[in-house]
Amino acid sequence: MISLAQTALQKYGRIDNGWSFMQNNDTPATSTQQSLQENQLPLVVGVDLGGTQIRTAVLRGATLLSRVNFLTGANTQPDSVLPRVYTAIQEALDKANVTIEQVAGIGAAAPGPLDSATGIVFSPPNFPGWDGIPLRDMLAQRFQTPIFVDNDANVAGLGEYMFGAGQGSRYMIYMTISTGIGGGVIIGGKLLRGTNGIAGELGHMTIDWQGERCACGNIGCLEYNASGTSIARRANEAIQAGEGTELLTFARTMLQHSSTVADQRALPTQGVDPSTVELHMADIEEEDTRAGSTQQGEEALRVNAHTVALAAEAGIPLARAIIQHAAEALGAGFVNIIHCFNPDIIIVGGGVTQMGPMLMEPALRIVQERAMKRPREAVRIMQAQLGANVGLIGAGALVYYEQL
Ligand SMILES: [Zn+2]
Repeated sequence: MISLAQTALQKYGRIDNGWSFMQNNDTPATSTQQSLQENQLPLVVGVDLGGTQIRTAVLRGATLLSRVNFLTGANTQPDSVLPRVYTAIQEALDKANVTIEQVAGIGAAAPGPLDSATGIVFSPPNFPGWDGIPLRDMLAQRFQTPIFVDNDANVAGLGEYMFGAGQGSRYMIYMTISTGIGGGVIIGGKLLRGTNGIAGELGHMTIDWQGERCACGNIGCLEYNASGTSIARRANEAIQAGEGTELLTFARTMLQHSSTVADQRALPTQGVDPSTVELHMADIEEEDTRAGSTQQGEEALRVNAHTVALAAEAGIPLARAIIQHAAEALGAGFVNIIHCFNPDIIIVGGGVTQMGPMLMEPALRIVQERAMKRPREAVRIMQAQLGANVGLIGAGALVYYEQL
């Protein structure tokens, strides 16, 4: 059924020259033919529930008819968040001048782990208080329409599969690299969910089996070695060990020009999900350290992944080495994916990938050197296309995927 939807919705040009660092375009491309095709799809509601924002939209295919953004707020308890979700859904309907009876269903993306079969959310690390919350049934009590729930990375992967870079693919791997690393795996046109709905946790594949312990309990995970959090952690560890003088000087210079840094011109950010924006901001935790003595400043100044990326671009060896480490870990992850799944496409999204060639070229070189020839020649590794709305488009795609 998915292939039918894909055929009907073939709408984006494909980029066939390997990794492309072209900017994503938030607005789906339009043409007469494609508008007609998309018009054949029913309206759906998409819900993107995150630690930072609650986002809702009424969609037809990849086209947003309305969009509502709420801050999730400091209190992430279900009693506090759920009423805001209900309100955000109703506001999206009202803004689009649509009633719940006119939509084919509500698709919701929520932080994992969650079981899509039951719609129950199990203690996501960034969602305190959500332990065994029956999100699907609670939404169903409120809205009389079919409700589908899945984890945010699976949902984003479905979005790219149906409406983005994965169109026409059958064996597609989606990976998002931001503060963490998530994944969505499409096998033979089907989302791979696994026994407990946990399949596709690509960030927690082992890269360094004798390495350090990840928050998940495993040793040497990809996420521990290549996420934005990992890049920042390695930089700050080096600084604390006294190896980061040049990087610190660079970070201080950036602070002195913090207005230019704040408007984020230094790295392209268009198409970056707001949930990853913290990678690009807040270079320090305590601003008054900037005028302090060198010793005190070195203790208090914390750099983030964005600063490390800029420092690497400026040629600072420590920063280059840290990005190189992340890139090579990512390359090893790609090799594992290619050998395990023999995909036709690997789609990479998330804020960290905005570093572009600095991250992707070493990763692709590892693939070239290490992956088996036949599956390597069959795969394209490409940038995600849907940009900041991937969560909402994917949530809507979940309704189509489950119903078409
Ligand atoms: Zn892990």
